[in-house]
Amino acid sequence: MTVNVKKRIRTIHRRLVKEYGEPAPPRSVPALDELVFTILSQNTNDRNRDRAYRVLRERFPDWAAVASAPGRELADAIRVGGLADTKARYIQTVLRRVYDERGEYSLEFLNDLSDAEASEYLQSLPGVGAKTASCVLAFSLGRDVFPVDTHILRVSKRLGLLPTKTDLTEAHAFWAAMVPDGLAYPLHKNIIRHGRKVCGARKRLCAECVLADLCPSVEVA
Ligand code: SF4
Repeated sequence: MTVNVKKRIRTIHRRLVKEYGEPAPPRSVPALDELVFTILSQNTNDRNRDRAYRVLRERFPDWAAVASAPGRELADAIRVGGLADTKARYIQTVLRRVYDERGEYSLEFLNDLSDAEASEYLQSLPGVGAKTASCVLAFSLGRDVFPVDTHILRVSKRLGLLPTKTDLTEAHAFWAAMVPDGLAYPLHKNIIRHGRKVCGARKRLCAECVLADLCPSVEVA
């Protein structure tokens, strides 16, 4: 069973690489920067996340200034990303806790922890769930872990890899167990791309889909 699922995932990977190519490597930024960036990405689109992060970095010279700013000022800086008051509170609590515990605004100590330990620490922070923790591990710390977002959840279900009622936490556990070594990052990027371009939430282009013959949800025109 597990062998068959992994084989299927490898086939999906090969097809997507043929279609979209090997994804460019992630931008390499410190883990704390990646964490704040990912908190800002929650419940918004990439464009507004990027704008919120850019304004945040322009208005405050460093993480110490963000941590000590009046909450309203920080929320105003990231307003374009949505849920600004909540995200501002999360970001400040995370920064203050990291500084209290480590004596610096840095998460580089995570490099010395296993994937599971680093993920557990990150998820102990406010506003950080499995997806946000996985993003920090995958994109900043270079770990072979597989973040699951809404596109991946949707496409995984349509491909029959996950039952339709699976939630994000269960999906993370599935992908952590099933993704073949070394494929987490390229597969993550290419499934998201496929979810945006072909297998959309409202519109699916099954006639153009390179996975159609593998997909139990294919819609025949
Ligand atoms: S065949 Fe259709 S439902 Fe299946 S992955 Fe492709 S676009 Fe999505």
